[in-house]
Amino acid sequence: MTESVRHIETTLIHAGEPKPRIMGAVSLPIFQSSTFEYGGQDSYHDLKYIRLNNTPNHIALHQKLAALENAESAIVTASGMAAITTTLLTILGSGDHFLAQECLYGGTHDFLTKDLPSLGIAFDFIDGNDPGSWKDKLRASTKAIYVETITNPLLQIADLKTLVEFAREYGIISIIDNTFASPINFRPPEWGFDLSIHSCTKYLNGHSDIVAGAVIGRADLIKKVLYKLNHLGATLDPNTCFLLHRGIKTLAVRVKHQNESALAIAKYLENHPAINTVNYPGLESHPGYQIAQDLLDGYGGMISFELNGGVKAAENLIRRITLPICAPSLGGVESLITRPATTSHLGMSQKERESLGISDSLVRLSVGIEATEDLIADFDQALKG
Ligand code: PLP
Repeated sequence: MTESVRHIETTLIHAGEPKPRIMGAVSLPIFQSSTFEYGGQDSYHDLKYIRLNNTPNHIALHQKLAALENAESAIVTASGMAAITTTLLTILGSGDHFLAQECLYGGTHDFLTKDLPSLGIAFDFIDGNDPGSWKDKLRASTKAIYVETITNPLLQIADLKTLVEFAREYGIISIIDNTFASPINFRPPEWGFDLSIHSCTKYLNGHSDIVAGAVIGRADLIKKVLYKLNHLGATLDPNTCFLLHRGIKTLAVRVKHQNESALAIAKYLENHPAINTVNYPGLESHPGYQIAQDLLDGYGGMISFELNGGVKAAENLIRRITLPICAPSLGGVESLITRPATTSHLGMSQKERESLGISDSLVRLSVGIEATEDLIADFDQALKG
């Protein structure tokens, strides 16, 4: 069977595995060696060294991740933020400008608003669902456009097809944070995105036990991002590569369960009298439902919602619920529940959050792989309080 006709479930297991297997090992061993014997390389960046991201553990992951999104190339990084910051610092320099979706992960929003201006890099926020307004924000210095597949924490979906066409028409680089969707539900390079970024801390690893990131996409751009990464030093260590490699193999079984479970829980919450609104792209009431239907293979494991009783009711729910753990982060096997205003979006001012529609009472749920019935029963008892 040729690799291009394989299903993603098979690619997860077999792509990037060393051929022949190293000493016959079915699971790729950890290469815990910072440096490797000199092999006559002409370029510094070709020497084997952990910071240069080129040990056998890195190389296997790079090939697996590229295959998962049908991309030309991929690299791993020390965290999702390392993937985001290194990519933006590669593409943009002093005097450059880019467009960014207005509702983004709090860490990304902070980097844009607090760090980039001092480097002479300018940006404008855009409404991802109002393509007519994008052109007015373009400048001669605009180099890129940056979005999230499903935004954190409001689960919005931009008009992604139009966005790729727009980027192509104006010759700017399209970058998408695909963390919430995971390659099971969306593969940005297949839709024409130049670069796809992941916090592998979340779904790709899936076990809440490491921090890692990835940049996937066009080979010419990945080469430049790797060059910058080698200098900034945000590499992934081989032990963490090993854990990520192991976690990725079960991505499909985990995410498919999470897709189904989250849809059932979102429907349950939408019909519950204590709940005011539910944000989930698989609900017909979601403004991005049609785009999600057209583009995604599944709606993902993330839900956010508002209770009728505001912050007090949200806190009561979080205190009373027993299975979801009250913690930031997402995408693991265990369900996690949090109020983004107190965790992932704490770096924003309340005014900024409010202008984006992130209220103090918004609750975000990352659905794990527990039995759906048990999670719903848990919500049932917790919402009675
Ligand atoms: N992108 C998204 C959508 C996230 O939710 C996060 C973290 O929550 C990140 C990036 C940053 O990832 P990391 O914590 O691995 O640096």
